[in-house]
Amino acid sequence: MVALLRLNTLVSLSGLCPTRHYCYYSRKPRLPFRIRMASITETEAETASASKVILDSHLHVWASPHEAATFPYHPGQEPTLAGHADFLLQCMEEAGVDSALIVQPINHKFDHNYVTSVLKKYPTKFVGCCLANPADDGSGLKQFEDLVLKDGYRVVRFNPYLWPSGKKMTNEVGKAMFQKAGELKVPVSIMCMKGLDLHISEIEQLCTEFPSTIVILDHLAFCKPPLTDQEQLIFSRLLNLSRFPQMYVKFSALFRVSREKHPYLDLSTLLSQIVSSFGANRVMWGSDFPFVVPECGYKEAKEAVNLIANKASLSPSDLEWIMGKTATQLFQSHSAS
Ligand SMILES: [Zn+2]
Repeated sequence: MVALLRLNTLVSLSGLCPTRHYCYYSRKPRLPFRIRMASITETEAETASASKVILDSHLHVWASPHEAATFPYHPGQEPTLAGHADFLLQCMEEAGVDSALIVQPINHKFDHNYVTSVLKKYPTKFVGCCLANPADDGSGLKQFEDLVLKDGYRVVRFNPYLWPSGKKMTNEVGKAMFQKAGELKVPVSIMCMKGLDLHISEIEQLCTEFPSTIVILDHLAFCKPPLTDQEQLIFSRLLNLSRFPQMYVKFSALFRVSREKHPYLDLSTLLSQIVSSFGANRVMWGSDFPFVVPECGYKEAKEAVNLIANKASLSPSDLEWIMGKTATQLFQSHSAS
């Protein structure tokens, strides 16, 4: 975790948060890192500020067919794409991406052994997002707690389509896990693949009842550039979620939300509005590797953000938050914050 802690230190050194930033963990005193306690010269602070950390806030890895002997796929969820860790590391190296949040993939469903093995093998490179198991028997709560406390996962994913038929994320099991996430200082990442309109009421209810749980909406909450009044309405409701200080947005999997081909420039207006409402310090880029590879390529996905941000006239500082500072700050270890 040395490198990640170093990244956190760089963030802490690199100046005050922008105006709209809400330092979520700031109520709690942080560990007095040696460097934070030291008096810092302006030159050192400038050097740290110049070091731009690139953190991909959303990607997946799964076992190669060879590794699947040790780490089997969930039955019926065999991958059709390569997504093993060595391939990811090669892509990150080519693209100049320093670190990443690995989101537990559906291919291994609730069996986290492969992702855990990758996290343990590359502790300075990756942090993990586990998948919440919303089974009716409530066993998912203990699994979640163990994944955080024993295996070091820093984020938990809520996939509403894994809830038992007819059940919502606001059921007893969902609320217990959401509340626990707040207690553990682990953000809840929510995937609204079938439309934010289906889930926004649940999200608002959870945020209202548990204001100390951080929420991250995956992939712009799957809001495409609005064409109809209905789409405009739901996008406005997404912007309005910024009223919850605990709410963050992933500007990720751009190929899933754009109506255009790479470099997805139709997203510039959305990005501009998201940043205006939330502040760049509540927005983070993610690739959705390996799905992004056949779409536009990994390196190209990262480069697209520069072009989109440029079209949206974002400041270099905003871009720096989106490309790494937001996520670095958010995913720092609860034990180190
Ligand atoms: Zn994904």
